[in-house]
Amino acid sequence: MTFYIYDSFSREKKKFEPINSDDVRIYACGPTVYNYAHIGNARMSVVTDLLVRVLKTIYKNVKFVSNITDIDDKIIEASKVSGKKIQDITEKFHKSYNSDMKNLGVNKPDLQPKATEHIKEMIEMIESLIKKNVAYIENKHVLFNVQKYKYYGKLSRRTREEQIAGSRVEVASYKKNPEDFILWKPSKDNEPSWSSPWGEGRPGWHIECSAMSKKCLNFPFDIHCGGIDLTFPHHENEIAQSCSLIGSDCKPDNFSKYWFHNGFVTVSGEKMSKSLGNIKLVNDILKKYSGNVIRLSLLSSHYRQPMDWSEKILEQSKKTLIRFHKALSEYDIRKNEQNLMKNENMLDFLKALYDDLNTPKALAILNGWFDKLKKKDLPNGLLIQQIIKALNILGLNLEEIKISENLIDENKKKEIEKMIEDRRIARQKKDFKKADEIREKLKKMNILIDDTSDGTKWTSNDK
Ligand SMILES: [Zn+2]
Repeated sequence: MTFYIYDSFSREKKKFEPINSDDVRIYACGPTVYNYAHIGNARMSVVTDLLVRVLKTIYKNVKFVSNITDIDDKIIEASKVSGKKIQDITEKFHKSYNSDMKNLGVNKPDLQPKATEHIKEMIEMIESLIKKNVAYIENKHVLFNVQKYKYYGKLSRRTREEQIAGSRVEVASYKKNPEDFILWKPSKDNEPSWSSPWGEGRPGWHIECSAMSKKCLNFPFDIHCGGIDLTFPHHENEIAQSCSLIGSDCKPDNFSKYWFHNGFVTVSGEKMSKSLGNIKLVNDILKKYSGNVIRLSLLSSHYRQPMDWSEKILEQSKKTLIRFHKALSEYDIRKNEQNLMKNENMLDFLKALYDDLNTPKALAILNGWFDKLKKKDLPNGLLIQQIIKALNILGLNLEEIKISENLIDENKKKEIEKMIEDRRIARQKKDFKKADEIREKLKKMNILIDDTSDGTKWTSNDK
């Protein structure tokens, strides 16, 4: 079977042909750890995890590296605002990120290198770039001269004017070209700093991914992943500095053979932002929904499409999982998996995923299997095995689906709250007959209610 990948560099769907099929290597730009992970971080993590899982059904050895940015302006700012030490902030949010992603069924990357542990590699890389005459020193800053890399702008397909408009204008007076970017800069008072040939300072953001991907995977590797918002300038800069180590006429595929970008996540059509107060944090959503529900929601649309996050998607996924739960509860799902890789139905499912991770299609096939299970259309043993295999590839936690009574509890809770609200309205309209009927119905459900000045409280008499 062949995997087809949409390569966002060439903007074409291509047959995936790894550089070495015995050693497939993937890199993804990981989070900057200064806050809890939001649903946009989670989308990148979940779809990249799925990519790795799907490639592992074809290739024996798939190595996946995703970094942790633990030095950055935003982290320094968070430390200033909170009065907490930088290291305390980054350790706390690195841990919470991994724990949230684990809840979403994301396997930990094979390597998760931290920027602050690779300063030496970054300095060496910057020194080589200066020697190659593609980077220059200006007032204790080291900058990359984008005019020296002939393929600059080829990934994002931006014109020079668009590049200038899109690059952050920082220390502009030192720059030979406005779009030149910083490789190294002096640290201000009390900011973390490291010794370098250019004085005490710290790296710019972009260089860390080149240094860490080179160290962990070597160039070229197979797939570079990240959110679509990183295309420019971050990924453009990664290509320029990585390829320039070889030579200014070195083509971008000498860094990464394919580029894999996932779409944006918006909330009610708006970009998530602090000022709008609409940032959806994974650990908040986890208080109400299981990791499976969030994961299924993120996989319900194709990874390249923009996704408008809403409670509706979560509720829909919850319903689907309750349906899965009910269907599976009759069966023993711990049975050994048969080899299904040649099973025709299974191939149909895999074919959808091998087609650039077409999860909507794969999920439709899986849903169809659950319909068949209900109608008892196929020998159930085989069908159950197919379902287990498919859920495993999608990274949905079977045990959690099996013991997901809490999902049903959530539904029951909603039903109770709706009844209490209906009773309140009935009382307001002085329809006491209806209000009493609702109270009796609740009583039969073992729910006791208490009308307080703060509204109606309820308790379950079940436990
Ligand atoms: Zn990166």
